[in-house]
Amino acid sequence: MENPEGLPLTRSLVRVALDTPLRRLFDYLPARESLHEARPGARVRVPFGRQRLVGVVHSLPAESDVPPEKLKPLLEVIDADPVIDASVMELIEFAAQYYHHPIGEVIASALPKLARSGAAARAAVERWFATEAGLAALADGGLKRARRQLELLEVLRDEPGVASGALTERAGDWRTPMRALVERGYVSSADVPIEHAAPARELIRTAGPPLSDEQATAVAALDGAAGRFAPFLLHGITGSGKTEVYLHAVEHALRRGKRALVLVPEIGLTPQLVGRLRDRFAVPVAVLHSGLTDSERLDAWRQCVSGAARIVLGTRSAVFAPVADLGIVIVDEEHDASFKQHESGFRYSARDLAILRAQRAEVPIVLGSATPSLETLQNVAGGRFGRLSLPRRAGQALPPRVAVLDLRAQPVRAGIATPAVEAMQRHLGAGGQVLVYINRRGYSPTLACTACGWIAPCRDCDARLTVHLAAQRLRCHHCGADAPLPEKCPQCGYAVRHVGQGTERVEETLAALFPSAPIARLDRDVVRRRGDLETVVSRVASGEARILVGTQMVTKGHDFPSVSLVVVLNADQGLFSTDFRAPERVAQTIVQVAGRAGRGTRPGEVLIQTEYPEHPLLTSLLSEGYDGFARAALAERAAAGWPPFAHVAALRASAQTLAAATAFLGQARGQLTALQRSPARVARGVKLLGPAPAAMTKRGGRYHAQLLLESPDRAALHRTLDAWLPGVESLKTPRELRWSLDVDPLELF
Ligand code: ADP
Ligand code: ZN
Ligand code: ZN
Repeated sequence: MENPEGLPLTRSLVRVALDTPLRRLFDYLPARESLHEARPGARVRVPFGRQRLVGVVHSLPAESDVPPEKLKPLLEVIDADPVIDASVMELIEFAAQYYHHPIGEVIASALPKLARSGAAARAAVERWFATEAGLAALADGGLKRARRQLELLEVLRDEPGVASGALTERAGDWRTPMRALVERGYVSSADVPIEHAAPARELIRTAGPPLSDEQATAVAALDGAAGRFAPFLLHGITGSGKTEVYLHAVEHALRRGKRALVLVPEIGLTPQLVGRLRDRFAVPVAVLHSGLTDSERLDAWRQCVSGAARIVLGTRSAVFAPVADLGIVIVDEEHDASFKQHESGFRYSARDLAILRAQRAEVPIVLGSATPSLETLQNVAGGRFGRLSLPRRAGQALPPRVAVLDLRAQPVRAGIATPAVEAMQRHLGAGGQVLVYINRRGYSPTLACTACGWIAPCRDCDARLTVHLAAQRLRCHHCGADAPLPEKCPQCGYAVRHVGQGTERVEETLAALFPSAPIARLDRDVVRRRGDLETVVSRVASGEARILVGTQMVTKGHDFPSVSLVVVLNADQGLFSTDFRAPERVAQTIVQVAGRAGRGTRPGEVLIQTEYPEHPLLTSLLSEGYDGFARAALAERAAAGWPPFAHVAALRASAQTLAAATAFLGQARGQLTALQRSPARVARGVKLLGPAPAAMTKRGGRYHAQLLLESPDRAALHRTLDAWLPGVESLKTPRELRWSLDVDPLELF
């Protein structure tokens, strides 16, 4: 488009993404006066109804659908330079489309909270100066009657540019006299950007061990892929030296002047990997995870924005971190469900987006795991991902011996079979440590009446309340309900008993069996505050604790070299789940827990207690290892048409009645079948399952149901979602009804 003079029109509008549930962008006029030009990826402050919001510039369009007289100007351009670069913006746009989520909310999840409210992208220090007038007043002997102001002004004269922090240390409450000085015009302040320390000359602080042949092959493959997109699975059992391969890949990226992005599934894993990165490299490492305070998060993000951080390590949302000049992406424990945000808001897989990010940045990506997801294994089988294997343990560690204990054929006391007790005795006697895994926290999962059959239920869920004996509470692990522990049956007044085991009870039993062996427990009840995890881990790592009892938490990354025996107390939970992914999760947990045995020089032993020793999952796992299990499981998925051989999206709804939730899903289904019958036949080949009540229908006082869409053709599924969702959004629903879409759901609950 050209104006009459033949000059191109300036692109004068600013299109902004705002953190609202509305699936659209908002147009504004440029700011009336502003220090900076609005550029894509920079934050701006805008009027929005009666609010003022911080948004991110998406683009600078020439025209708007909104009539010009209705457009309002930006209030302020916050950033001189974009805080979201073009490649991350592309990733965000892709994610918004793929997960069918409002782009403003996607962008919001890419920014730390304080950045979303407009905090400066560059760290600055407030510094104070005496003005000419102030200095003149001092020279004239002024301020005689305002001693605190006088003293403060003298400090500024002697030390121009003193920082606020330093004043607080020295002068206590200096703000009041300073305000008076400002009013007199005697002082001024300025925000001076913090200079980041110059990059260290040496990259490497401490060299690692010489690589094994397999490790060297893996590192060479990654090197050979530098500068282009190449996804690799790094498959290696726990302790096989995967982290060492990551460290080398990071080193090579750094040597090429690039940066590294490392994703881990959980906060629990970060301290360990951060420690190893910082021990190895002299360059700044920024750490981003949800356990940080808001200001720590802002700080880490600023290190990314400024480019000071050469290595960025974080959990889920770090996949959107502003890391320029990316050289490599690493996803550790790629199979871990924590990479998928599935609870609320923007439901995305950080692992899948990391692959996309690497693709856009044209760099290699390593997905590491001892128990790769079936999706990733299928990508390897299809030739889309390269495979790097570390089949042996690094150092001298031997693979553990694994055996199954048939619970039906053994005397069992408080959930522990006699041969397991004997094995513990043996290992403790030989100076080893023992790890006992049980997938349940609390004392016992059930409180039952000895007379009338009453069982403590959760009022708001289809679930039983868990006994927490030490705390004397009954708690629901699904909705958080929390009540005092009754001593008698509330129904008939007879005595109650605790049925089944949780970590707390196992700890009690083991303390009675092995009174001289100190026990550490690791579960979410023990680890509540920052530092709790480290405390438990160090008790075990130092050898002070001889027995460790814990939930899945024990499988996450910590290296306990002296653990020589692992006992899995209940492998059976999950063997008979309706969720098609349950077997995969059971196998992964067993292999991960077993991997804790014998990481040092002691040979390890693993005992798996089960009532179903002939279950095909267990037998294939035991006879052929994880690879054998995965082959069988993939064949089953292919036969049943489940992912990765099909693509799934779940429309979920919850309401105060099951009927309301199901009715909504029924209407949505009706719209979809209408689409399928329409001449364009958009949704052809997309199979619909449901609406059906969720496996745990009542949860948190609400009733949950879902409708599944399934197609072997990913593109067809997404065309369908695109055509269908606007209709779903316009459905008239009761106010209290909530619904959400989950693309590539990990759990079908
Ligand atoms: P993973 O990440 O697969 O669990 P790590 O990289 O943490 O494995 O290695 C396990 C242990 O073996 C660590 O203590 C590590 O320092 C050591 N290690 C790794 N590679 C080697 C090697 N090539 N030679 C000797 N020790 C190694
Ligand atoms: Zn009773
Ligand atoms: Zn509940």
